[in-house]
Amino acid sequence: MPLHTGPGKPEEHPRSMNPFYGEANPVAEMTEAPPKERMPAGPMLPATAYQLVHDELMLDGNSRLNLATFVTTWMEPQAGTLMTECLDKNMIDKDEYPRTAELERRCVAMLARLWNAPDPHSTVGCSTTGSSEACMLAGMALKRRWAQRNADRYPSRDARPNLVMGVNVQVCWEKFCAYWEVEARQVPMEGDRFHLDPQAAADLCDENTIGVVGILGSTFDGSYEPIADLCAALDDLQDRTGLDIPVHVDGASGAMIAPFIDQDLVWDFRLPRVASINTSGHKYGLVYPGVGWVLWRETEALPEELVFRVNYLGGDMPTFALNFSRPGAQVVAQYYTFLRLGREGYRAVQQTTRNVARSLADRVEALGDFRLLSRGEELPVFAFTTVPEVTAYDVFDVSRRLRESGWLVPAYTFPANREDLSVLRIVCRNGFSTDLSDLFIEDLSRLLPKLRRQPYPLTHDKAAATSFHH
Ligand SMILES: *Cc1c(COP(=O)(O)O)cnc(C)c1O
Repeated sequence: MPLHTGPGKPEEHPRSMNPFYGEANPVAEMTEAPPKERMPAGPMLPATAYQLVHDELMLDGNSRLNLATFVTTWMEPQAGTLMTECLDKNMIDKDEYPRTAELERRCVAMLARLWNAPDPHSTVGCSTTGSSEACMLAGMALKRRWAQRNADRYPSRDARPNLVMGVNVQVCWEKFCAYWEVEARQVPMEGDRFHLDPQAAADLCDENTIGVVGILGSTFDGSYEPIADLCAALDDLQDRTGLDIPVHVDGASGAMIAPFIDQDLVWDFRLPRVASINTSGHKYGLVYPGVGWVLWRETEALPEELVFRVNYLGGDMPTFALNFSRPGAQVVAQYYTFLRLGREGYRAVQQTTRNVARSLADRVEALGDFRLLSRGEELPVFAFTTVPEVTAYDVFDVSRRLRESGWLVPAYTFPANREDLSVLRIVCRNGFSTDLSDLFIEDLSRLLPKLRRQPYPLTHDKAAATSFHH
């Protein structure tokens, strides 16, 4: 979300408006469009206001053709109905809406079992607005635990907390470090390794490391970071140095994929070093934005001082959150989806999405102009770049031209040490069907002859052509 500045250019001339909008009602009739950056002087009819807003939004992209986002763009009508019914419920009013609070509790309990908590009864967790808030909370718990362990020397100038992560982390971790004054120690990419290396991460740890973040599902290429190997490297570090560094798994996408279709992959609370896990309910949790979840292995992993109890809404509910008020609808929709699909339903949905991703990756590769960096085998996401023989156009041209057919496919450069690499990325989601992927490959194939005839890459303003959506 851009940070908005104040009014733009001075108000232009009055613009005339479709007379139908005023419903030809002489009293309410509006002939001039209302101002855009000043609150109108008086009210207008709801139908007129609706039409104005609705028409303006028509120019937004079509969310189903958006292959940039991880966020759910389709839910069943029944989920939509439930969400509408809950629009007026504030999640914080847990005493007023005890059933909504109960559904949240059940979701946490289900996730604790899904992520193999050794003792689900002592697992704690909560819903959030998304993974970003969830990561802030998890990061704060890590920082506070470290501060408690180092109470004899923190705060002091030489005890500056740090968090170790791959350079491929989602921007929320950079925000966490900036907002909470923690040094971000990032393991760079190297060659064809586009995510964290366990040994390199362990080597960056010292007595001021509050934790290491492992990502189940890198946003750059959809690959899973090796969480078990990371824990093993940190076990070894502990044997050698005594440093006991906890791991947080950022499973924004993968924590809702791996439990269903990668059951043999050990990445979750089965690993004793994993202290907390987050996910985005609104990504592969299959709920409209914004809901996320964060769980701690056991109560001790979440310092009690971070939990607030408020009594002025009635009751005495403990909460750990950045926001106070927040809609209850998404939490209800999450519970609905858990109930509706069950484990088998989720498995079928995620497997189908992965099949679409794999087959689309193969077909992109078969076009001959592209090299795949990942194949949709972990997250149903793949990144690809042009082969060295392609010099007439680049990934930014592809992104721009695809947009002309309505497809939103971001092109972006990789971070250190692979800034030389620019890629396109496709995120397959529930609702991106085999039919749609057929249409996509047809459109891409049709574009290629034109792109190959270009004299050289033509997209000068690369930042404007596309943007990187995490
Ligand atoms: C999307 C994402 C986030 C941020 O999640 P939101 O739910 O959009 O706030 C954090 N980490 C990873 C790995 C992500 O993919």
